[in-house]
Amino acid sequence: MTNEEKRQIEIYRKNGYGYKQISNLTKLSLNTIKSFCRRNHLMDADLQELKESSFSCEWCGKSVEQKEHRKRKRFCSDTCRNKWWNSHLDLVKRKANYKIVCPSCNSTFTVYGNANRKFCCHECYIKYRFGGKKDE
Ligand SMILES: [Zn+2]
Ligand SMILES: [Zn+2]
Repeated sequence: MTNEEKRQIEIYRKNGYGYKQISNLTKLSLNTIKSFCRRNHLMDADLQELKESSFSCEWCGKSVEQKEHRKRKRFCSDTCRNKWWNSHLDLVKRKANYKIVCPSCNSTFTVYGNANRKFCCHECYIKYRFGGKKDE
């Protein structure tokens, strides 16, 4: 098990992932993960005290503020989300890919499973919305 894998397991566990889910994500065997968690105090009983609000970015481990009644944010930033997905490309393939041209910077980008996205990043959205273009 690499340090990177250990780090990821810890983040996933603290975010409430089950052993099986983690096994799917890391490609490590269920037993490997369970014994790692046992040795590192990441069993269910150890994690019970963690608050719902204390989720960590699943890429860098930084804590991610959650909005109530919203879908849980898994990453602290788009950068981290992209990095995570890039290292889990086999999971990406199961979802549909859409090539979209950002109307703000005209770059082509790929989104996974969500064809409704318009902009490559939040900055582009802001620029487009509030940057003086009146044609929307
Ligand atoms: Zn992050
Ligand atoms: Zn853009």
